[in-house]
Amino acid sequence: MIVEMRTGAAQEDVDGVVQRAKSLGLGVQLNLGTDKTVVALLGPNTGQLATDVFAVLPGVEQVTRIMKPYKLAAREFKAEDSVVSIDGIEIGGKRIVIMAGPCAVESEKQLMAAAMAVKEAGACILRGGAFKPRTSPFSFQGLEEVGLELLKQTSEQFGIPVVTEVVDSHDVDKVSRYADILQIGARNMQNYALLTEIGKSRRPVVLKRGLSATVTEWLTAADYLLAEGNEQVILCERGVRTFEDSTRFSLDIGSIPVIKKFSHLPLIVDPSHAAGHYSLVPAMAKAVVAAGADGLLIEVHPNPKEALVDGLQSLTPSDFARLVEELKPIAKSVGRYI
Ligand code: PEP
Ligand code: MN
Repeated sequence: MIVEMRTGAAQEDVDGVVQRAKSLGLGVQLNLGTDKTVVALLGPNTGQLATDVFAVLPGVEQVTRIMKPYKLAAREFKAEDSVVSIDGIEIGGKRIVIMAGPCAVESEKQLMAAAMAVKEAGACILRGGAFKPRTSPFSFQGLEEVGLELLKQTSEQFGIPVVTEVVDSHDVDKVSRYADILQIGARNMQNYALLTEIGKSRRPVVLKRGLSATVTEWLTAADYLLAEGNEQVILCERGVRTFEDSTRFSLDIGSIPVIKKFSHLPLIVDPSHAAGHYSLVPAMAKAVVAAGADGLLIEVHPNPKEALVDGLQSLTPSDFARLVEELKPIAKSVGRYI
């Protein structure tokens, strides 16, 4: 962390910064310029220190962070790639893991049909929301516990693990009884009570990127899960809000190599919520595999025309099966397989 003093700051102001740094156990390096003094703060955890601690002191012009605020999610903390294993399915290994299924669990018939179709096409994890965080309180909110029961039943019948969203920190235990992987939705990426509970549960978790979160904020949110001892964290890029409105969200392909560079955590991508339209999903999914993601989360509905949620962005079973076939040579070209 670098503390830049104001031009002409008094010696006692510089001393104040040095004393504060020492009281926090930090080392200091003084750089006495012709106009101003710059104090470099040295220590192992300066990334986790609030810049305000120094910015508030008299005579300080500006405080700049050098270290990243996240720690446990960082490659510096763990150099080798983390792999999350669910029933022997490894996320973060050579295999591109495809999670697919409807946006929301709607009925037994719908979920069974979706599970059969996605499994046969090559998906190895079934998705489906029982609790739906909706923009409007008047929209379908999900089947809740009935939906969880249907997920469990379908999972057992088809021998396929399930991922489903938890929206309330008080529901973590309940959802954990039914689902193999918990999902934290984009709207809850910074719901710290929820992150902490899921961290404590030590259950495999998919952490979606917030609608307007930077990569740094996203990785710092992942630290909440890791700090509670949950090492089974999977990141999920799902697009961010920009000025562009021809897609539902702008899929940030760039975040894939960035995450791979700065973090050891496995990363999957949800092209469905970024696209907003079924016709755009295949191209985005292919780009994601080429760019180095470890898996995909794709919405598939047995009959998108009748979907209660997100029908427009859901693939039909046959479109999904075709996409999986088209992804195989792309995976191979980057040293992976499906
Ligand atoms: C979902 O995957 O069901 C979902 C609601 O996505 P997001 O949180 O990314 O909007
Ligand atoms: Mn959806």
